[in-house]
Parts: sequence; C-alpha cells; structure tokens
Amino acid sequence: MISKLIKGLIVEHLVQVVANEEARLNALRDLQLLDTPPSESYDRLTRLASRLLAAPVSTISLTDGDRQWFKSKVGVDLEEIPREQAPCSYAIEGGGIFVVPDLTADPRFIGSPLAEAGIRFYAGAPLFTRQGHGLGTICVVDSEPRNLREGEEEVLLDLAGMVMSQIELQNMVGRIDAVTGHANQFQMFEDLEAMARTRADTPVTALAVDVLSATRTTYTTRVLGSECMADLMKTAIRRMQDCAGNRGKVYHVDQTRCAILIEDGLLGGYEMADRIAEALGKPILCSGVPVHPDPVVGTYDFVAGEVSPRDVFRRLSNAGDDAQQAISGKARYNPASDQRNSRGFALLNDFARALEEPGQLSLAYQPRIDLLTGDRAGVEALLRWTHPELGSISPGEFVPLVEQTALARSMTEWVIAEAVKQSRTWQAAGLVLPISINASALNLDEADFAARLLAAAAAGRIEPRHLEIEFTESAVARDPDRVIEQLTALRDAGIGIAIDDFGTGYCNLAYLQKLPVSVLKIDQSFVRSLVTSAKDQMLVRTMIAMGHDLGYGIVAEGIETREAYDMLTGWGCNEGQGYFMSRPVSPRQIMETAGHRSVLTA
Ligand code: C2E
Ligand code: MG
Ligand code: MG
Repeated sequence: MISKLIKGLIVEHLVQVVANEEARLNALRDLQLLDTPPSESYDRLTRLASRLLAAPVSTISLTDGDRQWFKSKVGVDLEEIPREQAPCSYAIEGGGIFVVPDLTADPRFIGSPLAEAGIRFYAGAPLFTRQGHGLGTICVVDSEPRNLREGEEEVLLDLAGMVMSQIELQNMVGRIDAVTGHANQFQMFEDLEAMARTRADTPVTALAVDVLSATRTTYTTRVLGSECMADLMKTAIRRMQDCAGNRGKVYHVDQTRCAILIEDGLLGGYEMADRIAEALGKPILCSGVPVHPDPVVGTYDFVAGEVSPRDVFRRLSNAGDDAQQAISGKARYNPASDQRNSRGFALLNDFARALEEPGQLSLAYQPRIDLLTGDRAGVEALLRWTHPELGSISPGEFVPLVEQTALARSMTEWVIAEAVKQSRTWQAAGLVLPISINASALNLDEADFAARLLAAAAAGRIEPRHLEIEFTESAVARDPDRVIEQLTALRDAGIGIAIDDFGTGYCNLAYLQKLPVSVLKIDQSFVRSLVTSAKDQMLVRTMIAMGHDLGYGIVAEGIETREAYDMLTGWGCNEGQGYFMSRPVSPRQIMETAGHRSVLTA
C-alpha cells in the first residue's frame, strides 16, 4: 500500500519535472536567442567576467534540450557542448551560484567532456527569467583548480543580472508602443501563442476598444497636439486595465485602438464592453483640458488553442470595425461580416497581381450617345477583371476596395495606359472617338496626376481633347486648393472634366462653379424610375436646366428604355448612356459598330 503511494508520488513528481522542463524550453525558444549570431552586447559581459574573475574562459550558455549552446564566449572555440554532465544544469537546478573547485576530483564530473578537455575549475551563475525559468548560465572556467575568491560570487551574480536585463531589453524591443510604453500587437500575438500552448481550453474574452473616433482624433490632435493624445491613451489604458482586473491585459494596438484579453473572466465580452464604455465615459484631462472619449467596443469570445492567434486578431479587429458602424457602439464578432472582409482582403491582394500579370484586366467601352443626333459622341472606359479562380468580379465590388488603398494610383495608371493604346489603335483604323476615364478621389491627391496623364497621352500620340476624366462629387469635395490646381492643369491642356454620379454627393453648385468642370453626368438612380416618378422627372429637369444655365454639358446615365430616352431628349439633355442604347462592349464591337446609329435604328 505504502509502496504504491510512494510510486504514485514519484510518478507525479516526474510528470511535474517533465512539464517544468517543457515550459522552460518554451520560454527559452520564445526568446529566439538560440543559434543567433554573436552580439557585442553579450560579448562585453563575458569579457568582463573573464577579466574580473581572472579566468581564461568565460561563456554565456543556454541550456537547450540536449546541448549547452554558447551565446557568447571568451577563450574557447566551441559552439556548443552536450548538455549531459555539463555543470550548467546543476547551476539551474540549484538556483544559485554553482562552484566546482576541481572537476577531476568531483565524482559527478569525472570523465565529463569538460574534464576530459582539461578544465578543472568551474563557477557559474544561473540566468532566470522573471517567471522563474532557468535559461542557462554565465560562467567562468579555468584549467587550474581553485575556488572563488572574496567578492567574486557577487560579481558573477551581478553579471548574471546584467545578462538577463540584456535579454529582456532585446525581447521588449518592438513589443511596446513607442507613445504609451504599453504592450503592442506583437506582444499580443506572442501572448496568444503562449496562451494556446500553455493554457489551451481556457475561455478568453477579447475586446477591441476605439477610445476616440477618427474625426475626434484628428481634431483633438490638431487642437491639443500629439502629446495630449499620448496622455489620453495612457489614462484610458489605465482605466481599462482596472476594469479588466488581474486576469486581463491591455494592448495598445493602433493610434487610438486597444485590445484587451481576459482569461477566465467572470463576464462575457458583451457585458464587459459596457463596463469599459462606462469607465471611459468620464472625461480625461489632457494638458489640463478635459477630453470626452467616445469609445466603441467590439468583442470576441473564444477558447485558447482553438483559434490561431492570427485569426483571433483578425476576428477581433473585425468586431472593432463593425462596432464603429453600430449605433450602439458595440458589436460582437460576426462571421458573415468577417467573410466579406476576408474576401475583400484577398481580392486586394490578388488585384495587385492582376495589375502585373497580363490577361486579367481589360477595358469595356460604353458608347455615349448624342441625344440630338443619335450619333456616338464618345465612349466611357469601364474596367473589367477576370479573376483566375473566381471569374468575373464586378467593378462595383473591387473598385471601392482598391480606392481605399494606394493601389488606386496603379489602377488608374493601368486604365489610362490601356485607353491611350486603344485610342491609338482606333485612330489608326480611322475611328476618332473621345474616351472618358474614371479616376479615383485618391488620384487628386497625387501632385503629378495631371502631368502623368498628359505624358501618357503624348507618348501615345493622343490629343488631350480626345480624353475626358470623370470624378465623383465626393472626390472633388476634398482639399479644394489641390483639386482646383490639378483640374485646372488638365483643363488647360484640353482634357475634358466630368462630374460622375452627379446628384448623389454633397457638392453644391456654387462650389462646382469654382472648378473647371465641363460636363455633369446625372446619376442613374434619378434616371432609373424617371418614367414613373414625378419627383425624379422634376429633379432631372431641374438639373438639366440649371446645369445648362451654368454652362455645363449634361449626360444622363442608365437610360434603359425608349420612354426615358425620349423624355431626356425632349428636355434638352445633351448626351446619354445606358443599356437601351448599348451595354459596355469590347473594343472590337465598338469598331464593328462604328457608323451605326445604334438607337435610332434599334
Ligand atoms: P460609373 O462610372 O458611373 O459607370 C457606369 C456604370 O453603370 C457601369 O457599371 C455601367 O456598366 C453601368 N450602366 C451603364 N448603363 C446602365 C444602364 O442602363 N443600367 C444599369 N443598371 N447600369 C448601367 P460598371 O461597369 O459595373 O462600373 C461600376 C462603377 O465602377 C463605375 O460607375 C465606376 O464608378 C467604377 N469603375 C468602373 N471602371 C472604373 C475605372 O476604370 N476606374 C475607376 N476609378 N472606377 C471605375
Ligand atoms: Mg463613370
Ligand atoms: Mg456614374
């Protein structure tokens, strides 16, 4: 009975030893120090040890599974030695300075590789992490037997402390936010990985907290300066940490966004979100000025080990983004919205490739009809993308995504180059047809946009008057000075400028009058139900009349029926585009139908 008990205790002890060793090895490997090149910051410490303890050899060695690997060494050429029988293991196990005055006289080391190599004296201090994991030692050895002299033990312990500070410092770089000094998203990744490894099955509540909305951030930074934002975030983080308690950790992951991970919390994410919002509800003093945070919180509850750290981070970010759209300022992780965003992310990645690889992108051309004569007045170039796996992707899906990134520049550049090439081909075949190109709001931010467009036209030997650029109202409603400068350069060179989707934005006509715009394209939403809606009829008639009074040419988009066509023609609308006359078609079809009066013969 007793022997069974003792056996049980021994087995339990062994299990514990194995688990500790595993945790120790994980801690060591997480530091990513093993097998890294020599570094002066460590070599300095071994040189110092060697000199201060008057020993010819000194090393900083790390105890891997089956070897002692030397991060730094003085007086020895070896890279590593077998862990077995190395005195370093004893230093870690003992937890303090470990001294062997003469290896050849100590039964534990007789015949050991070090003793065989002629080493007699060993003194090592263990290197412990704050969590108590022994990583290795800093030690000195000598070929003469001896003992530690007075004060040498303290020196060795101090040096071990310095090695650990160096390791911690190196480990921290890149893992804390430079403004608030708090753990950042890289640290969060590490912690999620450690959680999955060592505390699998633990329920975790994750929160993404935007302390201040983007507009308030811009305004506050402008008025109170960036130091104020740092104060704001530091205080906000402190309050969140108080809410999260000692099972929670707050990470500063973006300018005004924090993430919180709470293990085994008492509250679910959604309830916790209320607490956080309440804690941030009170004003925060920034440089003496009270600033009211307007927090929104996204939440995601998961089980450690069941979801990869990367997915946790993405899902949480998604919930945070959804919270920004929610009236309540709160959102749970929603797989459907995540899937949409994931597709968007994948599409953006693939679009970058599509711009490089031939065959995926092309331009379709939709004729623009002179409503008075029924002739083709020009064509609008519309981008088409055939994805190698997903097939045809609508510009309604990919263009808005691309327009939020710097890829907008390359996209428009691609379209311009292709349209210029097409224009040249048509002209060579005797077809002169102005081409209208859609540009993005971001293009107006490019100081050289007008210059590059003109250069592309010149290189393709296309007269600028055969090109037109379309912008939406929201694009031109941005930085007025920059916009006027760019558009004026284009107009002066002879390129037409049209406002696309007119009537859907916030531009007032007084502002538009300041811009060198020549054409307004009435958005198809007004034209769609023109025949049945008296209100739309009134709006469209007013837009045409007012537009004409102000000197604009008017184009109606989305004409799908003869009735709409006739109505618009009757009201004096100059040009029209729509499925009734022609869908967007290939350049070959444009060429083949040259000279046809598409509508009037229909
Ligand atoms: P948009 O510039 O207003 O182009 C007109 C859109 O209406 C085109 O859709 C066209 O196919 C469609 N359309 C034309 N007539 C009719 C009609 O009678 N009925 C209906 N229901 N639709 C009609 P598409 O080609 O899918 O393009 C959608 C939007 O994507 C464009 O709207 C434009 O904003 C954007 N886009 C397309 N190509 C480019 C491009 O090369 N660059 C940029 N920046 N945006 C582009
Ligand atoms: Mg357009
Ligand atoms: Mg449009």
